[in-house]
Amino acid sequence: MITKGETLRFDSGRRVRLADRIGNGGQGEVYESTHVKTGQRGAVKVFYKRFANRDTVKRIRFLMDQSFHATCPVLRPPIDVFRRRDMVGHYTPFVEGETLERFLDSPSSSFLEQLELAITFAHAVNVMHARGIAHGDIQLGNFMVARARPALRLHAIDLDNFYAPGLPVPDCVGHLMYMAPELREGLAKGWPAVPSISTDLFALGVLMHDIILLRHVSVGNDDSEASFLNAMCSGRWLQDPAVVGRSFSSVGGYPAGVLNPGLARLFRSALGLDPAQRPSARSWEIELGRAVDWAYVCPSCGGVCVVDVSKTVCPYPACRRPFPFLTLRVNGHGRPIPLRDGATVLGRAELGGSMRVSGRHAVFRRLGPKTWVESLGRNGTFVWMAAGWSRIPEAEPKLVTKGDRLRFADVEAVVE
Ligand SMILES: [Zn+2]
Repeated sequence: MITKGETLRFDSGRRVRLADRIGNGGQGEVYESTHVKTGQRGAVKVFYKRFANRDTVKRIRFLMDQSFHATCPVLRPPIDVFRRRDMVGHYTPFVEGETLERFLDSPSSSFLEQLELAITFAHAVNVMHARGIAHGDIQLGNFMVARARPALRLHAIDLDNFYAPGLPVPDCVGHLMYMAPELREGLAKGWPAVPSISTDLFALGVLMHDIILLRHVSVGNDDSEASFLNAMCSGRWLQDPAVVGRSFSSVGGYPAGVLNPGLARLFRSALGLDPAQRPSARSWEIELGRAVDWAYVCPSCGGVCVVDVSKTVCPYPACRRPFPFLTLRVNGHGRPIPLRDGATVLGRAELGGSMRVSGRHAVFRRLGPKTWVESLGRNGTFVWMAAGWSRIPEAEPKLVTKGDRLRFADVEAVVE
């Protein structure tokens, strides 16, 4: 039995005084503590009796030896261990903030901040996976968020359920809301169910959904235990905007349509039944990094999304208005040509019929608010610079903006 006010002595000689209990989990209780000499705050986890054994100590020592925090400050492994008769515990420097679970209950974050949080998260998980170690319990309660202006700071506060080859296996299988289908099946059938990197990658997909879209993957399919289990073991992403007609707009959070195809593809394979097909934490990190560059605010409703070539209309069900696009007014010829699509190919027919213009002379590519022109025609495409016409090199898309003057061989046009 351990009580508030008690002083514990750790293996390194560190002496800390226990303060209030700040949490309890499947394996033990966590107390806030102060270093007797320095007053530094810490967190002491005291394992329940049934876990107070050599295996636990061996696992704690392994975690300490990894010095994860030196590679990635997000990861907060224990830095000291104590043993006393039938008691085992460890010490971690105190982490400010609230659990990701509480934070996401009433998030004060912007969509962009959520993407950034997700990148940090993927990076931290990847640091573990790169060493062949599975986190083993990826869930909201094991991560802390603090608002440290201007960004959000993330910490992984509980790595105790990790799996590493050659070490005693972890005691828990993970959280029900994040558990991979094969672990659920193993548990149900009494097979060995041990977390692994691939079960981490399922949980990672679910948690990414929580963080980025502020919705659990099961929402809309969770009115009973059976439908929840069906949803989690379906091997499908039930909110896939490419498949479902349902808007899920009543469940809060962001519609999945705000994602770009790259992220949508990751969700599809992360939630799949084939563990080998789940994207790595590194893939998430890379794809999210790309997505941040393409965050776009709908000028009609102010909603944020990740734009891509296919997204020309606002993905928010309440808006659905087309995003503004450029048009091309060809001198002395017809109506302005809308440059609305992902790719608009223009040639002699569209540009007034001049024989100097090729059949396919230029292609305008549009990605969200940006439009580029790429020259294809034999007689060149030109842009007006201060000093005169400048030929656009072939296969080098040039960004165009409102007011630009272009020339396709001998046909002039203005971007509007
Ligand atoms: Zn909109």
